[in-house]
Amino acid sequence: MVADLSQDSARFSPAQCARLIVKVGSALLVDPDGAIRGRWLGTLVKDIAAAHKAGQQVAIVSSGAIALGARRLKLPKGGRASLEDAQAAAATGQIALSQVWADLLAAHGIIAAQMLVTLDDLEDRRRYLNASATLDRLLTLGVVPVINENDSVATAEIRFGDNDRLAARVAQAAGAQGVILLSDVDGLYTANPGHDPDATLIPRVEKLDARIMAMADGRTASGMGSGGMVSKLEAARIANSAGAALAIATGKNDHALKRYLDSSHGTVFLPERHAGARKAWLAGRLRVKGSIHIDAGAAAALGKGKSLLAAGATSVQGSFERGDVIDVIGPGEQRLARGLSEYDSADAAKIIGRRSDALETILGYAPRTALVHRDHMVIL
Ligand code: GLU
Repeated sequence: MVADLSQDSARFSPAQCARLIVKVGSALLVDPDGAIRGRWLGTLVKDIAAAHKAGQQVAIVSSGAIALGARRLKLPKGGRASLEDAQAAAATGQIALSQVWADLLAAHGIIAAQMLVTLDDLEDRRRYLNASATLDRLLTLGVVPVINENDSVATAEIRFGDNDRLAARVAQAAGAQGVILLSDVDGLYTANPGHDPDATLIPRVEKLDARIMAMADGRTASGMGSGGMVSKLEAARIANSAGAALAIATGKNDHALKRYLDSSHGTVFLPERHAGARKAWLAGRLRVKGSIHIDAGAAAALGKGKSLLAAGATSVQGSFERGDVIDVIGPGEQRLARGLSEYDSADAAKIIGRRSDALETILGYAPRTALVHRDHMVIL
């Protein structure tokens, strides 16, 4: 049984969320001789299959294409000597990598799917929505998507460059609540543990500020993949801002996922507590008490993360109290957002289309800052 912990981010465990992204780093997948670490991978897939069987929807972000292809093609510098080498290595490695994932998952009766995406695919809104819909469909069908960057076509400028950030963006696109980055480090330390014997592991981070960012340095432990601690922290920031927790854990041992689930040994980065939980809850609400129509200017402002002001509203439907959940409808009748109304429907109707400085006279009391405050609103 998968617990719904979205209301309680203080004890959020990425291992227990309904949708989970597991990212596997190159150094774990490919041994120094260029062979896939099939036995180890088999133990990980067993853990993924157990999570899947327990009702968790899992997507895998798998690195390793370049590392694997480079060794097969005997290319220098792990295939990263030039863009052409990396692209040839990726194309060669990817086909083998997908085959291994598909075979291992099939042994547990799980259907695998492959998605190769570029940065542009997830930055462009339409393509992002497209990728997001595909992921959603695959996951609800019980398929395990195996995702990697489409390295063989992406140029240096339009690459993610590391699968840590790719995994975080995939989590966002899939609406996942958690991401686990399995790699050859076991978490974030106060300093580089290779250099500083006093470095200690930080088990949880609730605020990813400059002090935390300063604890990372740019090196990758193995030199095989491209993501160092800096890219992992950037990934945590992306995941957290999408309301997902992100954990960094070691994948060095067999049954890496189960070990993490059992021990929680690693570093977990938690999404902002109130906003994340409330917005997840808001988005999940099925019953709303009413709606407010807004004009194109207000719709654009909402898209930029602004609150909904009375001036941008054009009509009010339904009967609601202050604090009730309402929908915000755009000029083309599209449902744009859902949030908690700062006014009851009668007062909201009085002030729509009016500028903030006129509200006190109309209402007879000090107005609130918005019709729907951005902290209490989720964009749909
Ligand atoms: N997409 C790259 C590959 O499959 C890995 C990027 C990374 O190291 O994170 O080889």
